[in-house]
Order: sequence, then C-alpha cells, then structure tokens
Amino acid sequence: ESSSSKPHAVLLSSPGMGHLIPVLELGKRLVILHNFDVTVFVVASQTSAAESSIIESAMRPKLCQVIELPRPDISGLIGPDAEVFTILAVMMREIKPALRSAISSLKSPPTMLVVDLFGTESLIIADELQIQKYVYITINAWCLALAVYAPTLDKLVQGEYIDKNGSFNIPGCVPVRPSDVVDPMLDRTNPQYLEYVRMGLKIPMNSGILINTWEDLEPTTLAALRHVKHLGRILKASVYTVGPIARPLGPVGSNKELFDWLDKQPQESVLYISLGSGGTLSLEQTIELAWGLELSQQRFVWVVRRPTEKTGDGSYFKVGNDDDELSRFLPEGFLTRTHNKGVVVSQWAAQVEILSHPSVGGFLSHCGWNSTVESITNGVPIIAWPLYAEQKMNATLLKEELGIAVRSMNLPSAATVGREEIKMMVRRMMVEEEGRGLRARVKELKLSGERAWKNGGSSYNGLSMLAKECQVIGHYQCPVSEA
Ligand code: UDP
Repeated sequence: ESSSSKPHAVLLSSPGMGHLIPVLELGKRLVILHNFDVTVFVVASQTSAAESSIIESAMRPKLCQVIELPRPDISGLIGPDAEVFTILAVMMREIKPALRSAISSLKSPPTMLVVDLFGTESLIIADELQIQKYVYITINAWCLALAVYAPTLDKLVQGEYIDKNGSFNIPGCVPVRPSDVVDPMLDRTNPQYLEYVRMGLKIPMNSGILINTWEDLEPTTLAALRHVKHLGRILKASVYTVGPIARPLGPVGSNKELFDWLDKQPQESVLYISLGSGGTLSLEQTIELAWGLELSQQRFVWVVRRPTEKTGDGSYFKVGNDDDELSRFLPEGFLTRTHNKGVVVSQWAAQVEILSHPSVGGFLSHCGWNSTVESITNGVPIIAWPLYAEQKMNATLLKEELGIAVRSMNLPSAATVGREEIKMMVRRMMVEEEGRGLRARVKELKLSGERAWKNGGSSYNGLSMLAKECQVIGHYQCPVSEA
C-alpha cells in the first residue's frame, strides 16, 4: 500500500510529560490498529533524558514521525508570575504560525488534525485545509464537563467560586464542590481564568472529542456529555472514549538497582510515592512526609524532588534538571534508618514499570490523570495527594465515586499535612483491612479497562468509529502491546 493512500493524522502535543505521553500513545494506536500515518508535533521543552526516551520509543520503525517545533518566545505576552496554565495556553496559541508552516511542508498532506486541551487555537488550521478536527482530552470526563460548562458558570455565578457555600451543578453530572474547583477557577482576576473559559468555548468547536477514559469508569458523566440537554447542546461533537491509554512497559534503564530491590520484597508490600512531572513539596512538607513514611514502618519507593517555597507545580518546566544531594532535604539520618525499608530516587523514575511490579501495593500520588490511569491499569490503589490543575476533582472521583483511594481530610487546604496523619494514611492503605478493600476494587476497574480495549470493547470501538469517520478501512488487529 503506498503511503499516500493512507489517512494521515497530525497530532499536536502541548509541553509536559502529562500531555506528551498520552498523545504519543494515541498516535501509536492509530498506526498499529488502523494503519494510519501519524505525525506528532511536540513543542520543545527543556528536554530531559526521560522525555527523549519516550519520544524515541514512539518513533520506532513503522510507528509515529515526531517533529519538534521551536518553543515560541512569549516573554512579552505574560507576566513574570504567570501560572503554568497561562504559560501553556499562550505558548500553544503562539505556536499556530509555526505549526501551519510545518504542516504545509509535510510530504503527504494531513487528513485529520488532533490537538490536546491546550491546542484548540490551532483547530482553525484544519478548517483552512478542510480536514477533520478533533480535541483529545487527556483528563477525565468529569473535568471535561466542568471545562465546557465553565463559560455558563461564568455567567451564572457572581464572585469567587471558592467562596460559595453550595456545590456547582453541571447538568447530569456529580456537582463540583467549591473546594475542588480546578486551579484556573480559584481567582477570577487571574489571566489563567480567562484562558480556561476560552478553552471551554473552543473545545466544542470540532468534529469530535476523544477522551482518555472508558465507559465503565465514568458512565454517568459520559451519558451527560452525550445526552443531557444543556450539556449536550453545548458540546454537539461526538464523544469517543479511547481509555485507558497508558504508556506500555519499557526497559527499566538506569533504575536497575531499584528493580533488583523490588524483586526481593514481599508481594504488594511497597508504597510508591511520586507527584508527577510537575509536583513539588515545601521543605517542611518533605520532612513531614519522610517522618510519616518512617513512622509507618512500611516499605517504599519515593521519587524525591528539590523542595520549593510552596507546595505546588514547581518543577513543571524543569524536571530532571537539578541533581542536588537529596539528603540535604530529608531529616537527618533518614536514609540510614530506612536503608532496608525504602529506596529514594532522585527526580524521575520508571513509573509504569514500578506500578506494574508485583511488590508494589499502593501509590501516593498527586492524582494527575495519567498517573491515575496507570495506577488503575496496574491494579494499584491510591493515597490521594492532589497538588495543582484538576487534581482535587480527580482525588474526589477516586475516593468518593470509584472507591479506590484514601485522602487526607486536610488536603489540599492545609499548608502542611503532619507526620502522624501521613503515617495513618500509609498504614490504612498498606496494613489495614481498608487497603485490602481498595485493592480488590481497583483490580475490578483494571479488568474493566482491559475489557474496554478488547476486540469489540467500548474504547476499541471508539477508536474504530473515529477511524471510520476518517474514511478508513484499516486492518483491525489485537490491542496494542510492545511486548
Ligand atoms: N512520570 C514518570 N516518572 C516520574 C514522574 C512521572 O514516568 O517520576 C510519568 C507518569 O508515568 C505519567 C506522567 O509522567 O505518565 C505524568 O503525568 P500525570 O498526568 O500523572 O501528571 P502531570 O505531570 O501532568 O501533572
């Protein structure tokens, strides 16, 4: 088959591993399952070794072509204290001319354009080329519902959302508590709020929406997005579930020693602790977490980052770029005292490989959606530690809807969660009956995710319908696996 007769999907990923990973994985599925040609445009970031290796694995022969676009200079367009959300939104708006010219110099013209949440400003390029356009949502359906409903809330609600007493109703969905709203809604005078509302207006303006969730995980919200009057009228576009999409297992690389250690630990006895690609803790919180772990007397693998002044998203644009001596930030003697109980990793770890290891039985996570999906697809329950973006809603979904997480009553409102409370959460998860229940439940969800991607499953069908819509009769093969 000549390459020009194949459909050619162009995908655009905004910066950050949390966007890059699910976009590349979607691209790989379009190639493997539906015989598409796929070109992925990524915006250059201060690239880490981790990022390069993930890009490389998506470029293996016969998979995606990945092209880096230079990072636009936006220094004149944002304030010095701009939030990550604003930086991403502005950067992805400014990328449009570079993307347009890069697309026009591709050897074979694209037949469809897929952008992530931050890329909606580029959908106009699809109009210019008269091709199909899609938004790929790499967060869950509940957060998507809030985003598309935000322009309505903007009109209905006066004053700050967080000051309200009652929850916000989204038609057909579980209401959102004021304390759970996404970061861009915390302050309506902050530029990121305008960016968020604007995104909510742009998302519906496309041929379809792909989302990294699955029917059995969020049936009510998905039904609302499709059928409930008001929300459906806003959305119009078809919603295709394509989750769970998670990175497949790769080589453990530089973490070999860690995996040798994991091999020697009892089954489901190790707690993995990581706060995504952006998460950082204050020094005080880092010390409390260390004490909490030590007092819990449980085994752990902890990805430690240099503390920042405040707990938040301090390493979003710079993961992997400092190699400080970790012990400087940990309680004196911590590494020696916990020598046989735990392993501390600097900056970045092979997360999917760790979560899939039989010795791992819990994940203290910031609840980024990719981390959440990876935890579920590996049957690991969560200690929810939401930090930024939409993670508070994710934590609520995990604890209250899905029943696979424990969460501190003090998170995220408390400046610091104390060691005693951390110890208790770890023991509830790793030692007590409660943890066993969560583990059983998450394993059911893992199975439902596997069913979604089996031949004839809902996500398998979702991607097939999309492929058909792009006028393709592909070779339908078994689900993607690199093994
Ligand atoms: N990740 C990793 N090693 C780390 C931290 C993160 O491999 O030490 C990966 C993780 O597996 C996930 C992604 O980076 O695929 C983070 O995405 P997520 O949506 O969880 O959070 P974000 O970084 O966007 O806040």
